[in-house]
Parts: sequence; structure tokens; C-alpha cells
Amino acid sequence: MIISPRRKRVARLRELMERGGVDALLVTHIPNVFYLSGFTGDSGALLVEQSRATLFTDSRFTTQAGEELAPTRIGLKIVKGSLGAAAAGAELARRRFRGRAAFEGARVTVAEAARMRKASGGKIRWRAVVGWVEQLRRVKDEDEIERMREAAQLGSKVIVEVLSLIRPGVRECDLAAEIEFRMRRGGASGPAFETIVASGPRGALPHARATTKAFRPNELVVIDMGAILRHYCSDLTRTVYLGRAPSRVRQWYRAVAEAQVAACQTLRPGAPCAAPDSAARDVLRGYGLEKAFIHSTGHGLGIEVHEEPRLGRGQSLPLDASSVVTIEPGVYLEGAGGVRIEDDVLVLPGGPEVLTDAPRDFLEL
Ligand code: ZN
Ligand code: ZN
Repeated sequence: MIISPRRKRVARLRELMERGGVDALLVTHIPNVFYLSGFTGDSGALLVEQSRATLFTDSRFTTQAGEELAPTRIGLKIVKGSLGAAAAGAELARRRFRGRAAFEGARVTVAEAARMRKASGGKIRWRAVVGWVEQLRRVKDEDEIERMREAAQLGSKVIVEVLSLIRPGVRECDLAAEIEFRMRRGGASGPAFETIVASGPRGALPHARATTKAFRPNELVVIDMGAILRHYCSDLTRTVYLGRAPSRVRQWYRAVAEAQVAACQTLRPGAPCAAPDSAARDVLRGYGLEKAFIHSTGHGLGIEVHEEPRLGRGQSLPLDASSVVTIEPGVYLEGAGGVRIEDDVLVLPGGPEVLTDAPRDFLEL
């Protein structure tokens, strides 16, 4: 018999709950609710206990939730308004639940927690726990890896297509619109984040938004984009030069490309999460560019564009097999521009698999 991926995820969460001394966990972070239940609505709360699990949502989602929960063993309760967390608390009180209950401490507002406590009648002792479902999400199962491959392929295809549209006079916002349009035509439900197109000196801002600035000859263009496809994100960056690049710009590109390869080579299950970051920094130091690298080397990727694990300085947690992470070193030179190369990489025992296959050679357009 094939056990659905979601039933396995709930089973793994129950093991964590048992070890952590929790009998009922209220999951309110929507990406976590989706991960465990398959429910894609934007309002709901999932109550997981050892012997049952129940999704609380409102009447807008009755049909949809019924269909999405069908492959799972999760029950459905339709509640009034969009107060799933409070309804779950009230349900526990009604059943005279006397076990140990917990909620997602990093995800619940003070007002929600107060409502939940009030609804559960003051008899239930709630405890905040942090990052339990996120910990499970660090390791992708086969179903997730398949979706992430597709999201990465779509992102790669679109970035290659739009490179041919870059020429002087085209504006950053035109290119960003073209990218988002093509991702949607490719089946994406939307961009994974606001598409970044940063040309010339604006490229020195790692998170520059696309503006109405037109591309000019002899400048760098940084494009950072990603698609959400079947609920999973891709995230990739390419940098090109408009014209023939001066040797210092080629040197920046070479340094970043080498830093990226060095960081990727450290990606092994069990290696510390800081390893790719220090490998990238070592290469950039060799080029005298370490001060120009002003962010961390990468982040986990999945249902959300930034998730566990973080690949930065001081991260001592070991990398897991079947994690998907970005590797995105960059250099940012005020007044001149930026260079960043970013790919999505699956960590495997036999060595990393790069999911984003857009070419990385330095392009002079
Ligand atoms: Zn990115
Ligand atoms: Zn990223």
C-alpha cells in the first residue's frame, strides 16, 4: 500500500510531538498547514493530535477543503469567520481536553494567542513551540523534489528567454513584467517574490526593485527571479553586461562564479550550514572582494522562498540530505553595480544536484 506523502509528514510531526511532550499541536502558519494537509486556502488552522487531526476553516473553503483533504485522514470543521485558531481552542475545551497543548510561537500574534486562550476556557495550558514543522520541511520528500525540479526548470527557461530582450532603452520594469508574464504562461501561480531587475549602479543594492530606469550601454544588469509552480518556489539570479566588459568587471564575475562553485562543493549531508558561506568568502577574499559580499550565501527553498536551513556565518546545524538550498554569492560595488549568480541546489549523499540549469557563462550583450 502506498502511504501518501502528507500522511507520512503528519506521522513524523507526531513523533516530534511525542518526544517534545505535546499531545495537541495547533498549526497556524499557512505554509505549514498546506505542507501537512494539502489545504491551499489562505485561512485555516490545523489541530494535530496523536489519534486525529482536524482542519478548521470558514465556509468560503468548504468544497475546496473537502476535496483537498480527501487523500488524507484529516477531518474538516467549518467555523464562522476566519478564526480557525480560536475555534480549535474551543473544540479542545468542549472535549474537556486535559493533555499538553502547544501552538506555533513564532507564528501567532499576541491577539490571536489571547483569543485562543480565551476560547479554550482557561483550563488548557498552552505552550509555545518554535520551528517544529519547519524542521520537517528542511528535508524534501520525492513529491516535493519533483515539484521543485519543475519550478527550477520554469525559472531557468524564462530567464534564458528574456536575456535576449535586454538592450539599451528597455526599462527594468519592462523586463520584470515580461519575466512575470512568461512565468504565468508557463503555469506559475505567480512570482516567488517581487522580480528584481537592477541595472548599472542600482545593481549595488542586493534587493533593488525594478524601476522605470532604462538600460544603458556599458552597465551590469542583475536579474533575480523565481516562480511558484504547484506551490513550490524557484529562485535564481543571472548577471549580464551590456557591451564589452572592462577587465575589472570580468574579474568580479570570475570571482563570484568561482565562489559559487566553491560553495556548492561543500554541500554534503552532515557538513555544517556555515561551510558554503565560508568557502564563498574565502574565494572572494582571494580577489580582495570580501567586503563587497554583504549578505549570506544562501537559504533553504520550498513552499516559501526563504526557509530552513540558513547558509550563513555561525550556522552550526548540519546540512540534511534532500534539502534544497540556494547558493548566491555576490559582490556589490557602490556607484558601479553588482554581480550575483544564484542557483537552486538539491543536497544529496552522492554530491549536489543543481536544479536550475540556465547557463552561467558571463554574457556580454
Ligand atoms: Zn534570488
Ligand atoms: Zn535567494
